[in-house]
Amino acid sequence: MDNLKINKKKILKNKTPDSSKVWKEFLLTIKSSIPNLSYSSWFLPLKPISLNGSELKVLVPNDYFVEWIDQHYNTLINNTVEQVLGKEGKLVYIISEEEESDILDLFSEQTENKVVISEPKEVVENTFENNLNPHYQFNNYVKGEGNALARAAAIAISENPGETTFNPLFIYGGVGLGKTHLVQAIGNTILSKYPEKKIIYISADNFTTQFVESIQSNTTAKFSKRYNSIDVLIIDDIQFLSGREKTQDLLFHIFNNLHQSRKQIILSSDKPPKEIVGMNERLLSRFNWGLTVDVQPPDFETRIAILKNKSDNFGIDLTNEILDLIAYNITSNIRELEGCLIKLLANSSLTSTPVDFELARKTIDEISTTKREISISIDNITKLVCKEFDVDDNKVREKNRKKEVVLARQVAMYLSKTLTQSSLKTIGLQFGGRDHSTVIHACNNIEKLASKDVSLNKIVSGLKNKLELGI
Ligand code: ADP
Ligand code: MG
Repeated sequence: MDNLKINKKKILKNKTPDSSKVWKEFLLTIKSSIPNLSYSSWFLPLKPISLNGSELKVLVPNDYFVEWIDQHYNTLINNTVEQVLGKEGKLVYIISEEEESDILDLFSEQTENKVVISEPKEVVENTFENNLNPHYQFNNYVKGEGNALARAAAIAISENPGETTFNPLFIYGGVGLGKTHLVQAIGNTILSKYPEKKIIYISADNFTTQFVESIQSNTTAKFSKRYNSIDVLIIDDIQFLSGREKTQDLLFHIFNNLHQSRKQIILSSDKPPKEIVGMNERLLSRFNWGLTVDVQPPDFETRIAILKNKSDNFGIDLTNEILDLIAYNITSNIRELEGCLIKLLANSSLTSTPVDFELARKTIDEISTTKREISISIDNITKLVCKEFDVDDNKVREKNRKKEVVLARQVAMYLSKTLTQSSLKTIGLQFGGRDHSTVIHACNNIEKLASKDVSLNKIVSGLKNKLELGI
């Protein structure tokens, strides 16, 4: 298969008209041969570029797309190419160079209403750089109990930016719960409703970097002017402004200006305003002027709905058992749910096995093992053991020789050896700079004691279970 990496914008401008016509014909045949969801997930995103004799070039979002199409629809494509372009016909995939067209872009907008054969859109040059990623929309944001309020507020301000009392809208919640998706969906919706509005989406980190650069290049005035002249300001992960006083001062002024002129401000954070440390009080108080809402981890039903939505967009049909299995095991956040699906598909492609219950179970096991290994650290073990034996963490890390401290230390060493990948040397170092032979002695001793003493055995296996299950 001939894959070339070239620039998407250039190509779409130079597109020859014939290619669109042939492509339409091609799509009509494909559409009538496969389910709608598969069609819209895997074929609508392709764009015709040029037709050279009987060679049709189409733009695909990424390598993964090519691999998938080739694996699943090879025969259909070959037959259709022959039907539309004749025996000599050839379809060449050109992979888009754009960074953001990564695997997650496959989770494109809801598909039902996209099942329309349309001319590929010309790239419209937008002179105002808003940094918005068009993938994030409300129609691919699944509503659940944990995000209902945040979503409703977000939709309300997209309808009437700056005109509601939700100014600023402050959304907070844990990692992977959809804050970035939601705040960007607001930006994208406003942009499609009010194309003239100037919107900026920026992470607090980038905002700081830009500001520092403007100081270095003596262009601070220009920088503030740009931000003071916009209609909608979206700052993601505002907690990263902690301790950055100068940037906070600047934001304070921008905030006041925009707010006074009834411009919309949207902020996101991993914690509520009152818990952000290192943030100027006057700025913090402003964060509470509008509406502060949280997003909570998705409940079981929402996890199922999200999985259905994402797998549909992928063009795969997961059985209820598989959906239940994933939703039951992956509970923390949506990014992990997505990650699990992607891993499942990757495992299926790599091993050429169908996506079935067995593969799903294996994939979840792989993910949980990695997670467990990350979360079981010597530190966690020490804390848990010390709590159980009611001794001070510090004493266990020092050279204290009190009987109960020695026992706790030896149990902690034993669990560190059994549950982490750390070397004997590392473990010894973490417990008061002892050498590896002390660790070996501790492990042997605990094994011996636990085999004789039922209550110690119970305690040690209880601790092990807790650590392994991450509870
Ligand atoms: P956060 O910013 O809170 O860390 P993100 O917005 O980056 O989380 O979300 C992580 C991933 O999960 C993204 O790919 C996003 O599209 C997806 N996602 C989050 N919430 C939802 C939802 N309710 N419905 C569908 N996809 C979601
Ligand atoms: Mg985010």
